[in-house]
Amino acid sequence: MFTQIPVFFHSNQVAPADIASPSPYKPGLVVADWQARGFPIRIEAPSPVSRDQLALAHERGFIDGVLDLAIDNGFGNRSEKVAASLPWTSGSLLCAAREALANRQVAVSPTSGFHHACYGRAGGYCTFNGLMVAAVALLRDGAVRRIGILDCDFHYGNGTDDIIHRLSLRDHVRHATAGHGYPMRAEAFLAQLPRLVAGFADCDLLIYQAGADPHVNDPLGGFLTTEQLMERDRIVFRSTALHGIPVAWNLAGGYQDPVDKVVRIHANTMQACIEAYFDPSEDVSAEPQGQPDGATV
Ligand SMILES: [Zn+2]
Repeated sequence: MFTQIPVFFHSNQVAPADIASPSPYKPGLVVADWQARGFPIRIEAPSPVSRDQLALAHERGFIDGVLDLAIDNGFGNRSEKVAASLPWTSGSLLCAAREALANRQVAVSPTSGFHHACYGRAGGYCTFNGLMVAAVALLRDGAVRRIGILDCDFHYGNGTDDIIHRLSLRDHVRHATAGHGYPMRAEAFLAQLPRLVAGFADCDLLIYQAGADPHVNDPLGGFLTTEQLMERDRIVFRSTALHGIPVAWNLAGGYQDPVDKVVRIHANTMQACIEAYFDPSEDVSAEPQGQPDGATV
């Protein structure tokens, strides 16, 4: 169990709020909220991914076009600030994935905007598919033999499927996307979730997209109440802990206005994570004989 949950956040992964989706600026709000709530988290600085790392999951010309502002990003613009944030969002998820593999439990990447990004094109507020960049980077390193992606955003992770197909990775990347082929009725969805997570037990790592847009009041989603969304997260984290599957999770979608409503949903996800992975009796501040600050036990 943890003394502090590792969260991979750097202000460089945040871009301004002048577009329709809150994704580029949400990480800063969410992390500030987690800190204000006194959650036992530890902020770690991620490293940005390189163009070569992005090219593990994307066509090189597409990457260069977006980052050199010659092609629209997933928000349909050529914002220099959005482009500058993109290596940091994928980098945050890759760093969280590596940390979860190392600590064998959990790490957090407060990021969004990945799963509609296809091999050679952006779409739906997503530019680069950090889920697949991380997955392929870990497979190439030999850090994992098989990796799972459990995408509980409301929408179909079409970009993830596209990259899995283009790179013939179906034997190495197990992808479940709630927006495609899973019941959009709360009771049925929650009832089958434990079995779904258990199905990832032979994966070396699970990447979990804890999207906030399945909320009933979300303008782009709508079938789970606030309590049911938190139950979703509790089921996932209880199951990953039970089966010993290291999990790296991120934020994904959420479009309620004002954005505070989305921030509160992500706070519930962190609360569920803490319930599964944090043991207050191991808090280093309460144990002078304990591990050095920031160490995991
Ligand atoms: Zn979505």
